[in-house]
Amino acid sequence: MASVDDEGEVINESDFIVDDYIIGEIEDDESDEETNYFDTLCAICDNGGVLICCEGKCNRSFHPTFEDGNESACPSLRYTNAELEAMRNIEFYCKNCEHKQHQCFICGELGSSDESTGAQVFRCLNGACRHFYHPHCVAELLHNGNEAAAEELERKIVAGEQFECPLHKCHVCKELEVKSDHDLQFAICRRCPKAYHRMCLPREIACEQRAWEGLIPDRIVIYCMEHEMDEDLGTPDDQSLGWWKEQLLGSVDVDAVHGYYWSPNF
Ligand SMILES: [Zn+2]
Ligand SMILES: [Zn+2]
Ligand SMILES: [Zn+2]
Ligand SMILES: [Zn+2]
Ligand SMILES: [Zn+2]
Ligand SMILES: [Zn+2]
Repeated sequence: MASVDDEGEVINESDFIVDDYIIGEIEDDESDEETNYFDTLCAICDNGGVLICCEGKCNRSFHPTFEDGNESACPSLRYTNAELEAMRNIEFYCKNCEHKQHQCFICGELGSSDESTGAQVFRCLNGACRHFYHPHCVAELLHNGNEAAAEELERKIVAGEQFECPLHKCHVCKELEVKSDHDLQFAICRRCPKAYHRMCLPREIACEQRAWEGLIPDRIVIYCMEHEMDEDLGTPDDQSLGWWKEQLLGSVDVDAVHGYYWSPNF
């Protein structure tokens, strides 16, 4: 099982848990492009800590046990320590990657990502990007207002042409990220494909407790103004949470002690 250690190196042995949120994107020339990048924040709760990484296309990470997600009240994958121990030498695939069903990062709908049987959602070509899109949704966003160009891009994506999603250019100035330049580092929304340079970040995002430093190296994590914040959660009331319950985690039972019990049917 490949994972990452504190130095950002990929480990292929038994150490499959990431301790602390230290790593951003990792490049390892020797291994397959799709297994090189892991998210250092939990896909369920957006917090860091001890995470298990999916070996599929999604690059996502999850709090594996309830204890690991305790700080952020994360439902987690609800593995027991014994189950985790038994999985040490097995590659972990999340439900979405197992079933090749991924969520469009724009409209939130699930679609097949199985290109052998006709995919509905396609992944951004950027190796560090873990997001899938409907061709129509992403083409419309990339060519905002230019219908002809959007339609052409949509056709190309359906035909298999690669595309880069809007997360890789600043929403304001349309320029690229420069990690070595403080002002040109990116603030990335966790809920939609929107990124800003530090210097281009709208004031209201910085002022309304929607931005976090230090969760990801050289980047700021934000929830942009599109998403209504839930004061109890401290994050937007996630439109994908209902989806997580049913599609990602499978059956849900009520646990009298903790509220929800998320059955780990992997
Ligand atoms: Zn979590
Ligand atoms: Zn996955
Ligand atoms: Zn969509
Ligand atoms: Zn992307
Ligand atoms: Zn900018
Ligand atoms: Zn957003």
